[in-house]
Amino acid sequence: MRFRNIILLVIILLPITVFSQTNNNYSKTNFIPPVNIPITTSGYFAELRDNHFHSGIDIRIGEKEGLQVYSPEEGEVSRIKIQAFGGGKNLYIKHKNGYTTVYMHLQRYCDKIEEYIRKYQYEKQTYEFDISVPKGELRFQKGELIGYAGNTGSSGGPHLHYEIRDTKTEHIINPQNFGLLIQDTNPPEIHSIMICPEGEYSKVEGEKWKKEYRIKKNEKEIGLKENDTIVVTNEVYLGIIAFDKSENSTGRNGLYSYKLIVDDKPIWYFKIDEFSFSDSRYVNACIDYEQYIKTGNRYLISKKLPNNLFSNFITDKENGIIDFEPNQVRKVVYELKDFAGNTTTFQFFLQSTPPTPTIVHYQKNENTYTHLFHWHTPNKIEDEDIKITLPKNALYDDAQVTYSKTKDTTNGSTIYNINSLSPLQLSMTLQIHVPESLITNPQLSSKLLVASLEDKHLYSIGGKIEEGSIIAKTNSFGSYLITFDTIAPTIEPKNFVSSRKIHSSQNTITVIIKDDLSGIAKYNGYINDKWVLMEYDGKSSTLIYNINKSELNLQENKLKVIVSDKSGNTTEKVFDIILP
Ligand SMILES: [Zn+2]
Repeated sequence: MRFRNIILLVIILLPITVFSQTNNNYSKTNFIPPVNIPITTSGYFAELRDNHFHSGIDIRIGEKEGLQVYSPEEGEVSRIKIQAFGGGKNLYIKHKNGYTTVYMHLQRYCDKIEEYIRKYQYEKQTYEFDISVPKGELRFQKGELIGYAGNTGSSGGPHLHYEIRDTKTEHIINPQNFGLLIQDTNPPEIHSIMICPEGEYSKVEGEKWKKEYRIKKNEKEIGLKENDTIVVTNEVYLGIIAFDKSENSTGRNGLYSYKLIVDDKPIWYFKIDEFSFSDSRYVNACIDYEQYIKTGNRYLISKKLPNNLFSNFITDKENGIIDFEPNQVRKVVYELKDFAGNTTTFQFFLQSTPPTPTIVHYQKNENTYTHLFHWHTPNKIEDEDIKITLPKNALYDDAQVTYSKTKDTTNGSTIYNINSLSPLQLSMTLQIHVPESLITNPQLSSKLLVASLEDKHLYSIGGKIEEGSIIAKTNSFGSYLITFDTIAPTIEPKNFVSSRKIHSSQNTITVIIKDDLSGIAKYNGYINDKWVLMEYDGKSSTLIYNINKSELNLQENKLKVIVSDKSGNTTEKVFDIILP
């Protein structure tokens, strides 16, 4: 590293102290834990997830749902959101101290909230909704019961997802900054390190590819151990997979912070205490996205991509790239810390070797065209039947994008393959020409959609018809085609048989609803022709009616279920529900 950069680095790294001082503001609050059990976790704040950083802490509640959840401070409900997917039953409580606490995947709410939402649901005839609650409507004392932890929405098992947000900015903050105590005496654990050649003329151990190294835990294992030396050519950058394991917590929680130090100078510092939702997608720029797509491994990289505007890392003038004088040996140290301050360090060496000639094997596919997309300009691919556009700043770095057209062997429709190993920060627009015969047939044109093709499965990305084309937006590169959804959803009984007596211990009537392509848009249940609340659980495709004797009040009742998909195909079924 050259001298002027060392000075610059000192200046750039100064804000680290400012970083940690902001914690004092949080500590002026006096939140108590939202549950009455010692806190163990199945997920940490800012963990790396699909297209986002995890916005809360996942608190374990055992295998059983129904653990009581308490308001951590005096406050009032500001928002209630119920979704079939996502957070399921969500609750937002606004506190006077300037923060809002958020709870997701609740099994149910406390009686006073349940009463409030039931009224709303029957009035609007909907299970799902997202509403602001007027001031003073639902107040809670500190420590008062607000609900029960559960598994609703897209949850992988019973747990409480707990968040603290700044009410004004809506920034999400690590609840541990507010004194939420998680017993943790285990230092973070490095799983593997990846060394990546930067640019065309760089190599790692004589090869042009990224190399992954497992960290050796004992002599028998193969991998990288403390003080090993790896030879590289020209310039490289690094990636790391690391976890934190807290007491009694399941498996691996995400890493809180790490520093990369080269020859005793820090070149990269990564730590997330707070972030905004609009920045959450930058997770794809903080990991090696290409490696993630190829192997499923999420390496946190210490290289700043030109359009990575995420504010929770600090780097040097070289953007994390490590360069070498001929034959120079450089000492590399990783320093990892968890929130409790437990520290892990790992040291190894990189030694530069002169370049050797490279044999390149060109592979050319006649029908595939490669385009270079620039991150700082708009990009476009256009031919006679498709226009693909990407606004400026949609990419984190310049990217190779290949484009080809193939035919679906089963029905002959055209598949547009727009491929790249780069992630997208902003969405790409596909404008595909639709044959006249389809557009002019109103029965077919209303069922048209664009789908992505992944492992022989179709996933709808929707689309609207405009001037002879269908226009759809997508968040990722891939293969796309025009197709129809003409098949209506299915409705099948799950825990009863129509016209047969239900079981006396039964307290729900459940049906399974599924759609093949465009997805479920509307669902309604009626008992003896009166609308009743049916709760839709997306992950299990079930529609659940909780038996209410004042609604299910005849010996023989008619349950009518009507389900529509997003293309307007509707199924209606009537079941005879006989009481025992
Ligand atoms: Zn969560």
